[in-house]
Amino acid sequence: MYLPGVGPKKSQILEKELEILTISDLIHYFPYRYIDRSKFYKIREIETATAYVQVKGVIKGFRQMGEGRTKRLVAMFTDGDDFIELVFFKGLNYILDAYLLDTEYIIFGKPSLFNGKFSFVHPEIEKPSPDRMTGFMPLYHTSEKMKNHFLNSKAIQKLVLTALKSIDRKEIKETLPQHIIDKYHFPGAGEALVTAHFPKDMPTLDKALARLKFEELFYIQLAILRQVNQFRSKAMGHPFNTIGHYFNTFYKECLPFDLTDAQKRVLREIRADVRGPGQMNRLLQGDVGSGKTIVALLSMLMAIDNGYQACIVAPTEILATQHYESMSKMLEPLGLEVRLLTGSTRKKEREYIADGLTSGSLKILVGTHAVFEDKVQFAKLGIVIIDEQHRFGVAQRAKLWGKNIRPPHVLVMTATPIPRTLAMTLYGDLDVSVIDQLPPGRKAIQTEHIFDEKRPQLNNFLRRQMAQGRQVYVVYPLIKESEKTDMKDLENGFEAMKKVFSEFTVCMVHGKMKPAEKEAQMQEFISGRANMLVSTTVIEVGVNVPNATVMVIENAERFGLSQLHQLRGRVGRGGDQSYCLLITKYQISSDTRKRIDIMTQTTNGFEIAEADLRLRGPGDLEGTLQSGLPFNLRVADLSRDGALLTMARDEAEQLLTSDPMLSQPQNALLLNQLHSKTKNVVNWSFIS
Ligand code: ADP
Ligand code: MG
Repeated sequence: MYLPGVGPKKSQILEKELEILTISDLIHYFPYRYIDRSKFYKIREIETATAYVQVKGVIKGFRQMGEGRTKRLVAMFTDGDDFIELVFFKGLNYILDAYLLDTEYIIFGKPSLFNGKFSFVHPEIEKPSPDRMTGFMPLYHTSEKMKNHFLNSKAIQKLVLTALKSIDRKEIKETLPQHIIDKYHFPGAGEALVTAHFPKDMPTLDKALARLKFEELFYIQLAILRQVNQFRSKAMGHPFNTIGHYFNTFYKECLPFDLTDAQKRVLREIRADVRGPGQMNRLLQGDVGSGKTIVALLSMLMAIDNGYQACIVAPTEILATQHYESMSKMLEPLGLEVRLLTGSTRKKEREYIADGLTSGSLKILVGTHAVFEDKVQFAKLGIVIIDEQHRFGVAQRAKLWGKNIRPPHVLVMTATPIPRTLAMTLYGDLDVSVIDQLPPGRKAIQTEHIFDEKRPQLNNFLRRQMAQGRQVYVVYPLIKESEKTDMKDLENGFEAMKKVFSEFTVCMVHGKMKPAEKEAQMQEFISGRANMLVSTTVIEVGVNVPNATVMVIENAERFGLSQLHQLRGRVGRGGDQSYCLLITKYQISSDTRKRIDIMTQTTNGFEIAEADLRLRGPGDLEGTLQSGLPFNLRVADLSRDGALLTMARDEAEQLLTSDPMLSQPQNALLLNQLHSKTKNVVNWSFIS
């Protein structure tokens, strides 16, 4: 408020819109984009995709390339020495008309790197004129409201300048250890900050941004890894010393198939964790259908053999019910009681479960979020297994710790592989096991892209599959914003299918149904009485019907990659050839095209996850991501800055090996920084 140019009104807006309260907040509010109009670049000088730059030159020729959706116009542009391609996907005719060959133009845009070559996609093209913008300038995000109060990007930059002038540059303390600055030739803290707001040229800007990004990632890694150290030194586990009656009997007599080598390896890793003095915190990644459930079950038996209780938590009622049923069946020969606790569990059953859990007579609980309620208390909880973790918020996981004085072992299972950069950031505190092998006899799922117009052929295909006794899923998107029309699409689809396939039984499930009704419809399909299930994404996670061989995804353009992959994972679970058919209308965007291409080209979950991160950027990932970080990222971007992240991780690891808690005097700076950065985050240490 007291900074010249701010005052009470603007300070309020800055606080509300950008959470800027102090000078420090202001100078750490970074631009989201840079525009370099300070000079004309030579094509060979283009080295990074950091800023928007301008190049003067002429177009030497046009070429039309590609077909259908990849159709594009490429202009060969030269500055007299080198060539660079200008690429256009839209308005091709207009561009051909509007721009002349061998006429001087200034093109302006952000270089993009494709196949190791820079090009400009849809650059601005203009004739040289004296009243063009000049300078190297940052752009800051502002809101409509801010602009109404004259707080546009330019005004913010000016405030930053005033702010920087109001403080002694020496007040900007160095925040990275000197040895790291020296090693990577980073600019100092003050210099990097000033450059980020007032860049002089591209190389200095690149260096400044690299430093700022590194710093963010470094402190995140430091926070996570130090927390792990702290935890390991304090946390007492529940050592499962023996492999006993239940495990052995089940393994020898009840196991319905031979475990894959990958399953065996993971079980050994889990075993090594739970027998030790500490607490297990393990992430189990395994693609859909890789057989995580049986690993979970065997881990639970380890707990029970050692006098502990076990609990498995699923994100949906359908999935919890399915686990409950399959586990009850598998454990029946052992005489082990299993109970199910969900939001719709009756009061009487609830009470029965509560008694069993507190007295310790009930050993195995399967459930949904309901398990996390404070009322649910265990006598001796030894292990918690969380299935399909990406649906669970960090806060919910954290609640587990309240259940015991000593935290139970935690096994988090996910079928959505997490790209390395994300895993290191979000789950850097978990050990990772991977089931990288599918059970034998599985055939690769065939994935095809089908246009709406081809429905008759599609129906013939579905009819043949069902006539052979196979079952079919048909999935419709349903999102909150368009719930009404989505429901209509689903219901119309259901009616249409019933008509087309009148000789078969078609059932329907969606999230709006009462649990009992949903359950009944689901059972129709699971039992094989229904040939086709029309549904929304309630079936996305975990449902297991090995006889289902076709997954039809309607309006596939409306699903994200990881969702498509999850849905596809519902088929291909038995020995029969399975198919995933992605239906879209004829006109689709280039993003949709990319997603569909990836789906038809690979079934590898890791490749898909990496592609997903690249296409969407991490900001877009579910809320779990942001809330899962010890503090928010301002400059670094997890989808682009993988190399910096690895550097940051290495440096953090090295520092912590010699000083696990950063308690030595020479590391006081780091500890201070950590505290000041994470001060707003409560209870981060208890996040599993
Ligand atoms: P996910 O990892 O997606 O949770 P599931 O645990 O549901 O996979 O297993 C998928 C299917 O594969 C189930 O029908 C399960 O019984 C079967 N399965 C699991 N492991 C094996 C194995 N080693 N051999 C044969 N079938 C297996
Ligand atoms: Mg599963």
